[in-house]
Amino acid sequence: MLYSTAPTAQIRALEDYKSGISARLQILSARIARAAVEAGRDPAEVRLLAVSKTWPIESLRDAVAGGQMAFGESYVQEAVGKIEALSDLGLEWHFIGPLQGNKTRPVANAFSWVHSVDRIRIAQRLSEQRDVHLPPLQVCIQVNVSGEESKSGVSPEALPELARAVAALPRLTLRGLMTIPEPSPDVAVQRARFASLRHLRDALNNGGMSLDTLSMGMSDDLEAAIAEGATIVRVGTAIFGSRA
Ligand SMILES: *Cc1c(COP(=O)(O)O)cnc(C)c1O
Repeated sequence: MLYSTAPTAQIRALEDYKSGISARLQILSARIARAAVEAGRDPAEVRLLAVSKTWPIESLRDAVAGGQMAFGESYVQEAVGKIEALSDLGLEWHFIGPLQGNKTRPVANAFSWVHSVDRIRIAQRLSEQRDVHLPPLQVCIQVNVSGEESKSGVSPEALPELARAVAALPRLTLRGLMTIPEPSPDVAVQRARFASLRHLRDALNNGGMSLDTLSMGMSDDLEAAIAEGATIVRVGTAIFGSRA
């Protein structure tokens, strides 16, 4: 297979030469486009979600100046403050962090998307609490494809039943699946895990669903994710730098 994760000389030169958030966004869109083309896909099929958790509002403004409109946040309180502060910009907010039952209300109403649904109780609360004047909340089910005990996410075995239950909730639209695999430096291992999320999505679609979203791939493994069909990559470090 003609696939490599090494950046082209051109991308490496840009990385050396440029710094700053909007320059990094340009580099990243070149990485995404290259990975898509290598996989025989249209780069427009892959959306970039800028993961801005822990970064201050000024950093988000810099990203907006660089053309970025969709942001991912993991901590409810921090996110709500940013969403209010930037409410005049028409941004799209995605919640990607662990969900606790007592904090679903702000998540249900301040965000357009939730990627981290992994139990029915949480999905029911999000559906009950979503304001009827807002469009349905767009959700992904988080799946634990590498099988670690500690990570959140439903098991592949329990996924079909959860997906059916989530899809039936009135104020949610089930869009697809999300995963955060255990990091591996081995591209073949990365690809196998992302491929397993795609196979789970395809199996649900063969069973009558129409899920269009695979939320997978981060700063270090987005090429592998795009090769396996990612439609949303969630990238923090490669845009904003290393988190403290
Ligand atoms: C922090 C985070 C990311 C971004 O990871 P980077 O390695 O910084 O690109 C993506 N997805 C989730 C769920 C995260 O919590």
